[in-house]
Amino acid sequence: MSQSDSLARELALAASRKFSHPDITAKGERRASVRLDRLETLWVNTGSLCNIECANCYIESSPTNDRLAYMTLAETVAFLDEIAALNLGTSEIGFTGGEPFMNPDIIAMTDAALARGFRVLLLTNAMLPMQRPRVKAGLLGLKAAHGARLTIRMNLDHHTQALHETERGACNTREHTEQSCFLSCGRRLGRLAAEHELADREPDSRQREQRFW
Ligand code: SF4
Repeated sequence: MSQSDSLARELALAASRKFSHPDITAKGERRASVRLDRLETLWVNTGSLCNIECANCYIESSPTNDRLAYMTLAETVAFLDEIAALNLGTSEIGFTGGEPFMNPDIIAMTDAALARGFRVLLLTNAMLPMQRPRVKAGLLGLKAAHGARLTIRMNLDHHTQALHETERGACNTREHTEQSCFLSCGRRLGRLAAEHELADREPDSRQREQRFW
């Protein structure tokens, strides 16, 4: 077997073991860890299912990947109780997936976090799961009640439709994403993407996103 064949085989084997051990990476290295001093943001993974299958998805989400089951409202409330009981100084709850709007409890989970006074950051591909009437009505209700503390970050992988869709692997994804403007004041996401390309530092990004509410 040639050296390149051997390397390819090793990489395939490592990839097949990806995410299989809680402490060891697919390369056999110990996972990085950070000592807990305070928990500024609690990230909730809402489940690994997604309506699309992006080429570079960090968690291999897809319409069939249900390795991470949907997080429930009861589980989320238990975590919110725990960070309050431990006095961890948490100011923000983040929701990511998979596609969070596929989770049947996402509006209730977001409401639970906002009702406790947290800021909420919700990551989405802003496609059809977010466009369903029940979800739209729920989001508009949350916006009316807590808009200043709710940020929705919509993924655009590139400011050109072609490269965005090369990554996303689906047709008209850019068009669907732009439909999510039902929540905004009418500015186009293309301009937002261009702004992000010019300056993508985290605090600046959040301030720009808040202006859409
Ligand atoms: S939209 Fe996000 S979660 Fe879904 S496949 Fe793409 S990167 Fe993964």
